[in-house]
Amino acid sequence: IEKNPGEPEFHQAVREVLDSLRPVIERDEEKYRRDAILERLTEPDRVISFRVPWIDDKGQVQVNRGYRVQFSSAIGPYKGGLRFHPSVNQGIVKFLGFEQIFKNALTGLPIGGGKGGADFDPKGKSDREVMAFCQSFMNELYRHIGANIDVPAGDIGVGGREVGYLYGQYKRLTGLYEGVLTGKGLTFGGSLVRKESTGYGLIYITEEMLRNHDTTMSGKTIVVSGSGNVATYATERAQQFGAKVVAMSDSNGYIYDPKGIRLDVVKKIKEVRRGRIKEYLDEIPTAQYVEGKGIWNIPCDIALPCATQNELTLEDVKTLKANGCFAICEGANMPTTQDATDFILENEILFLPGKASNAGGVTTSALEMTQNSERVYWSFEKTDSRLKEIMVNIYAQISSAAKEYGVEGNYVIGANIAAFKKVADAMHSQGIV
Ligand code: NDP
Repeated sequence: IEKNPGEPEFHQAVREVLDSLRPVIERDEEKYRRDAILERLTEPDRVISFRVPWIDDKGQVQVNRGYRVQFSSAIGPYKGGLRFHPSVNQGIVKFLGFEQIFKNALTGLPIGGGKGGADFDPKGKSDREVMAFCQSFMNELYRHIGANIDVPAGDIGVGGREVGYLYGQYKRLTGLYEGVLTGKGLTFGGSLVRKESTGYGLIYITEEMLRNHDTTMSGKTIVVSGSGNVATYATERAQQFGAKVVAMSDSNGYIYDPKGIRLDVVKKIKEVRRGRIKEYLDEIPTAQYVEGKGIWNIPCDIALPCATQNELTLEDVKTLKANGCFAICEGANMPTTQDATDFILENEILFLPGKASNAGGVTTSALEMTQNSERVYWSFEKTDSRLKEIMVNIYAQISSAAKEYGVEGNYVIGANIAAFKKVADAMHSQGIV
C-alpha cells in the first residue's frame, strides 16, 4: 500500500488474489519466496503515462492523460483493453492490468497481461473529436506496442469506432498492416464474434456452471446492469438460452420491463443513436425507467453485473439474496465489492468472478490475432465454437482447482489458483527477469 499510494482498486484486486493463494504458497513456500514470485508479479514490467493533446470542435486545445500498463509478459505478448472514461487513473489501469494476467492465463492462449486508457470521455463528443483524440493517443502509444509486443483492444468507451481510428493512425505512423489491435472492423482484419464475445462467453460459462449444479438458464429471470457491449450481448445470448432479462441500466438509471427486454430497441438506442437507456420508454411505454441506482432491488434468479467496478455492494447482494437470487456472474471487471463477495461466498450463492467469466472477450481477441497472423478469416460458427469450448474449459479448470485445494464451489479461489500456477511456472522457468 505504501509503494502504491492512492490506488485503492489496485490494492483491492491484489488483496483478493493474494488471499486466495495462501494454500498454494504454503505447499511450496521455499520456491515461491526464493523467486520472489509475488513481489515480481505485483510490480508491472512498466507503466507508461503520457500527454494527449487534441483540438475540440470549437478550436480549443484539450489535454488528457493516457496510460499503458504492461504488466506481465510471462506467457505471451501484453494483451488487454483500452478504457476511455473520465474515472481512469493509474490505479484503475493497474488493477485492470493485474486482473488481466490471470484472465489471460485461464484462456490457455499465449497472451500476457496489460491494460491502458485515458481520462477522456467520448460521451457527447463528435466523431471528429473522437478521431482527433484517438490519433493523438496513438501518436505516443504506437512506439510501445506491436503484434508481438503488446496488442490492445477495447473496453469501456472504446468500441469499433475508436479501434478503427486508433488502427488507422498506427498504420500511418508505422506503415505496418499487422494485428496490433483487436476488435477491428470486419473489413480490415477484425474477427467475427469479437463484438459479441464477452457477453456470449459470460453466458456460456454461466450455463456450464448451472449445468454442473443440476439446473439451466432456461426460464430464469435475469437482471443485467449496464447497456454497453458486454451487457448487450450477454442479454442476447441469455434470451437465446430461454432466460428472461427484465432490466438493464446506464450510469443515469435503469429500465425495468417485466415482459422481457426488447433488445432490438436497446441496440437501436445504444449502438445506432448512441443515446441513453431511458429512451427505451419512447418505444416501450409500458416499461419503467428509474433514475439513479437501485437495479439490484428487482427480484431475479440470476444477476449479471456488466457495467463497471464496485457497482454491486454488500447492501445490494443482501437484497438480491432476500429476493431469491441464487447465482451472480460477473461480466464487468471486479463489479462486486470485497465485502459483497465475502457475503456471497458465505451464503453459498453461486458466483463466477470476472477474471474467469468475462474472459470471452480476450479469448476472441487472441483468436483474432491467430487469424491475422495466418492471414485468414474464420467463420462465425468456427469462432463461436472455439469460444464456447474455451469458456467450458475455464469452468473445468477453476472448479477442479477449487476442489483440489478443498474449497469446492469457490470459484474465486479456484480461478486465482489455476491462473497463478501457470503464470508462476512460466516466471520460474524464465529466470529472474
Ligand atoms: P461499454 O462502454 O460498452 O459499456 C459500459 C456500460 O456500463 C454502459 O452502459 C455505461 O453507462 C455503464 N457504466 C460505465 N461506467 C459506469 C459507472 N461508473 N457507473 C455506472 N455505469 C457505468 O463497456 P463494456 O461493455 O465494454 O465494459 C463493461 C465492463 O466489462 C467493464 O468493467 C469492462 O472492463 C468489462 N469487460 C469488457 C470487455 C469487452 O470485451 N468489452 C472484456 C472483459 C471485461 P454509460 O453509458 O452511462 O457510461
